[in-house]
Amino acid sequence: MKIALFGDIHANLEALETVLADARSQGCDSYVCLGDVVGYNANPSECLEIVREMGCPVVKGNHDEDAGGDHSLEMMNPVAAEALQWTRDQLNAEQREYLARMRMVRQVQDFTIVHSTLDQPNVWNYVTNKFDAMSNFSYQFTQVCFHGHTHVPRVFVRGTKVQDVPPESITIEEGMKYFINAGSVGQPRDGDWRASYCIYDVPSKTIYFRRLDYDIATTQKKIIAAGLPEALANRLAVGR
Ligand code: ZN
Repeated sequence: MKIALFGDIHANLEALETVLADARSQGCDSYVCLGDVVGYNANPSECLEIVREMGCPVVKGNHDEDAGGDHSLEMMNPVAAEALQWTRDQLNAEQREYLARMRMVRQVQDFTIVHSTLDQPNVWNYVTNKFDAMSNFSYQFTQVCFHGHTHVPRVFVRGTKVQDVPPESITIEEGMKYFINAGSVGQPRDGDWRASYCIYDVPSKTIYFRRLDYDIATTQKKIIAAGLPEALANRLAVGR
């Protein structure tokens, strides 16, 4: 069994289609979505329908919550508020209801999935260092947990102490715990514009990361054509 773990799609249809095609060519037979299907980019409805049709386990991201909810946008910065209202307007009531009902944490087989962190999944904290990871590990009751939210592929390992190891191929070892960020499909922020996701090869207990070129020019054109802030198109090219 090979499981593709992908999240932070952020309505980027070109990146999502590229990732799913790659996962198939890598022999993946299961899929798990780590949340933030919508927000920022121009195809929220299309990306949401793809994920729903896949019928795979999915957890709620903060953008899914914002788009599915109907709280006031007055307190947000105007650019973010405008983009969020645009996303809400692209989704029908039934799609927004689906987003609102997504679960925050799920166990899939022998691992856990969450969008941000297990210690306070609904607070949307960012795990950017070992201390943040330690808080998560206190609430992680499976050996492996996959997450997203920072848009940076990353691996924290807890043995006798917590280590921050590079997002390369890793093998799950007895007595250790792993908190693994799959990176972002649709808006990477580690300085590399290519779509990111990871694959868990269950029989060999290995996890490896994939980075993929996609048709970013089309994604950027759609953002501009939709009247979304131009900054959203520009940041894709620099991976920030
Ligand atoms: Zn996100």
